Amino acid sequence: MRLTDREARASRLRTLPAYLFEELVRIRCRSEERGIDVIDLSIGDPDLGAPVAVVEALRNYAGDPRLHCYTPPWVIDKFASAVGGWIKRRYGVDLDPAAEIFPVIGTKEGLAHLPLAILDPGEVALVPDPGYPVYSRAVWFAGGRVEWMQLKAENGFLPDLDSLKGKKPRLVFVNYPNNPTSAVATLDFYARLVAWAQDANAYVASDAAYSEIGFDGGRSPSILQVPGAREVAVEFHSFSKTFNMAGWRVGFVAGQPDLVGALKTLKSNIDSGVFGPILMASIAAIEEGTQGLEATLGEYAARRSLVFRALEASGLEYHRSPATLYIWAKTPGGVPSLEFAKRLLEQCGVLVAPGIGFGQGGEGYFRISVTCPTSRVRVAAERLEEACRAFKK
Ligand code: PMP
Repeated sequence: MRLTDREARASRLRTLPAYLFEELVRIRCRSEERGIDVIDLSIGDPDLGAPVAVVEALRNYAGDPRLHCYTPPWVIDKFASAVGGWIKRRYGVDLDPAAEIFPVIGTKEGLAHLPLAILDPGEVALVPDPGYPVYSRAVWFAGGRVEWMQLKAENGFLPDLDSLKGKKPRLVFVNYPNNPTSAVATLDFYARLVAWAQDANAYVASDAAYSEIGFDGGRSPSILQVPGAREVAVEFHSFSKTFNMAGWRVGFVAGQPDLVGALKTLKSNIDSGVFGPILMASIAAIEEGTQGLEATLGEYAARRSLVFRALEASGLEYHRSPATLYIWAKTPGGVPSLEFAKRLLEQCGVLVAPGIGFGQGGEGYFRISVTCPTSRVRVAAERLEEACRAFKK
């Protein structure tokens, strides 16, 4: 029996909104086939490589046959203790590593599985719009209902907590520093969110994948610093951006022990964990790799300046944030974001992420990622400036 692609899919896949980034990859390939030199600033995939100490640790541990089996519990314990030490140093928060910290196969995996672990069909999760698309997909896959929380420029791209009064969702996703808007949250925002969640009997999943990507001395707070947060919230952290380890697929969840436990149980039925040598190398990252972070941030800062300058010269409005790999800007003259991205690619070979790819709330915006070599970002910034001038005519 041969089915069409569509027929072969379960309805939960068929009813998903189109994944815009797949279309962008197709457009990019077509442009390249036509001989256009494409500079891809659409995806946040760190280009600078993992710290030497981490690569060295992986090389050493890869040869240890004790780590070739399913991830041994002692390796998970060692990883959780190291993460606990980092959380204490970074945020001054004491967690119980055995009950409150667990590795995930990248935060994407953990975030995608959390709703399946804690939501019953029909239960509501609040999801930011615009936002990282994984949250809504995860809720739908679990049979839950998504209610959108608008992130508006006038609120600093934070959800309006006053508008949530009276709502009784089971789960709420927040993500700061934010993708795609690059906005940051304060500890005061987290304190108000925790108070609201306690009142609403809701759980909070805080996605802190960009926690260490801050500029000008900016250090993002953690929701776990709020007294009482450990009763309602978990936070997800990633090695992908902090240590340039996106392909290694490693991160962790930390906080509310029932949520951590539920995710652990779900995962034990689906995957068999992170490869032991990668967990051991991740410990080296936490303990030695942070020295490399300054250099990474310096590189991103130089690239951000190039893009800021080009946007200003083009008269485009953008959110100047002290964090993330992204710059969130308004399309010239309110051109719809997908049309802008396509025209920009055709005109000058620069690919940006259209805001609509992050939800209706992203319409009228586009996102630039600074994860290309600085020399390429420089060329892209020049091309962008010229193309935007043409747009305005
Ligand atoms: N959260 C956000 C907001 C992201 O942008 C990304 C990746 N782009 C992730 C999570 C996933 O990161 P990881 O590589 O840890 O799965």
